[in-house]
Amino acid sequence: MAFEFPDLPYDYTALQPHIDAQTMEIHYDRHHRTYFNNFTGAVDGTPNADKSLEEVMATVDASASPAIRNNGGGYYNHILYWNSMCDGGSAPSDALGAAINDTFGSMDELKSQLKQAGIGRFGSGFAWLVVADGKLAVTSTPNQDNPLMPVADMQGTPIVALDVWEHAYYLKYQNKRPDYIDGWLEVVDWAKASTRYSDALA
Ligand code: MN
Repeated sequence: MAFEFPDLPYDYTALQPHIDAQTMEIHYDRHHRTYFNNFTGAVDGTPNADKSLEEVMATVDASASPAIRNNGGGYYNHILYWNSMCDGGSAPSDALGAAINDTFGSMDELKSQLKQAGIGRFGSGFAWLVVADGKLAVTSTPNQDNPLMPVADMQGTPIVALDVWEHAYYLKYQNKRPDYIDGWLEVVDWAKASTRYSDALA
């Protein structure tokens, strides 16, 4: 089985003050690790053990087992979430910046749509910037679903992941999800997103 629990790409303190260190530690070392452990326990000895994580996600239809859908989704989604953020944020490539302007009119409008998608997701879930049919789009998914899954309203290749589960923000922001998203928007790693964007188009 090739699945590994990845290192966090920065220290727990790296995203302060926007994302606090205690939230990062609990989120990474308890929540994410539990999804990983439950997923690998469920796929061990099954045909999914020899697939890539993306291939497994692409099999998640309405008949998928909760262990694969929820824990596999949680394993995948958090890898992308960690890699959607960096200390101080970063700038998009010329190519991604141009695509953002073409699709949304401006970076500010994209940020506004991501924020609205995150606020509008009732309960727990994720907001996403994806490439779908070669175009950028904003969408959201419930629980630990993601746009790689056939169950998603919009299927596409995830470029940026925004976790809006309360465990992502409650210690610092309590019920104020919009304020958490404003902080998150300050630390988005648009440079890494640019690599995922160019890979998605390749
Ligand atoms: Mn989470």
